[in-house]
Amino acid sequence: MSRITKVESMTLEYPEPNDNNTLRRVTLCRLETDDGVVGWGEAITMWAEACHATEVMIDGLSDLLIGRDPLDQQVISRQVAERAWWFGPEGIASFARSAIDIALWDLRGKVSGQSLVQMLGGAVTDRIPVLASTHAFDPSLEVEAERHGRYVRDGFHGVKIGLGKKGDARLGYEYDRDVRFMQLLREAVGPKADIMFDRGQHLKWDVGHAVKLTKKWEEYGLRWIEEPLEPWDVQGFRQIRSHCTSLIATGERCWTTEQYLRLIDTGIVDVIGCDPGRAGGITGFRELILAVEKAQLWFNAHAWSSAIVSAASLALSATSHRVVYFELKPIDNPMQNELVSNPFWHEGGYISPRTAPGLGIDVDEKVVAKYRVRR
Ligand SMILES: [Mg+2]
Repeated sequence: MSRITKVESMTLEYPEPNDNNTLRRVTLCRLETDDGVVGWGEAITMWAEACHATEVMIDGLSDLLIGRDPLDQQVISRQVAERAWWFGPEGIASFARSAIDIALWDLRGKVSGQSLVQMLGGAVTDRIPVLASTHAFDPSLEVEAERHGRYVRDGFHGVKIGLGKKGDARLGYEYDRDVRFMQLLREAVGPKADIMFDRGQHLKWDVGHAVKLTKKWEEYGLRWIEEPLEPWDVQGFRQIRSHCTSLIATGERCWTTEQYLRLIDTGIVDVIGCDPGRAGGITGFRELILAVEKAQLWFNAHAWSSAIVSAASLALSATSHRVVYFELKPIDNPMQNELVSNPFWHEGGYISPRTAPGLGIDVDEKVVAKYRVRR
């Protein structure tokens, strides 16, 4: 029987070319057994203070893991969650819980020789259509439209564009310019590709503006609008819902299953975003999927960080018919293309979950060392 003998936390800092080369951060959890098997987990901590706090939290929770059998993953994960209620369950506690949970699933899979899909009870599909998900950053509308047109020609079924992000694109600030961009984008991606827009938090829209812009974009076949308002503005979302026909997406800021259940109860959302690196790991995401299936809604993995979260998200996505797309960052980047020797990419517009044990990824520890933040 294997025993967990080592629990490590570490933060990686990397430039993200899909976000105008902004420096972003993730905090990883690395578990190792007495026979040298390694499991990896991730939390999407982003800010330096959150990274540091999450590392401290993972280190502090390590007594619940040391000496344990990785096959007891579910019980250990529950015990971590039970400890964390005192100082959580949201925020930093949830980041730590998420990274530990993903690492435990990875380790259990590697020890037992099962892929994550097998441990989850099997997939309903072996291929999910892919979406190119990036932030607009170029000042030229024509350049951004053409860039996304290229992704569709390369096989992507659609594009999701973050507005109001870093860089010089200035999308989301001026109604006429935003409409013009949609016109150019539709011409560039052709009539069939799906278009989604995701309002960045820096953009301050009101209900009237959100309705007017969404309705106009719908003339060009908008598939979904993501977080047009702050997610707690339930009344605002209801008004958008009553005026617009496109799908409404939100949920990526939720931490717990209880928050997701409350969100579903509001009736304001069609596509629920979830990141296992934030919302309780693979265990938390799986609970959300069951709730989404019961409510007959849709979910979409917020997998926009490292290949660890992508591997977890992809396997989970393949277990349900309620998934719409799987998002890929279209520009090569350190956390996807360097961190693992077998990066995720699509074939003819579709992507398949991994079949190798655990997460099915091969994390390169030299790359971990290269981007690791030293304290
Ligand atoms: Mg989003």
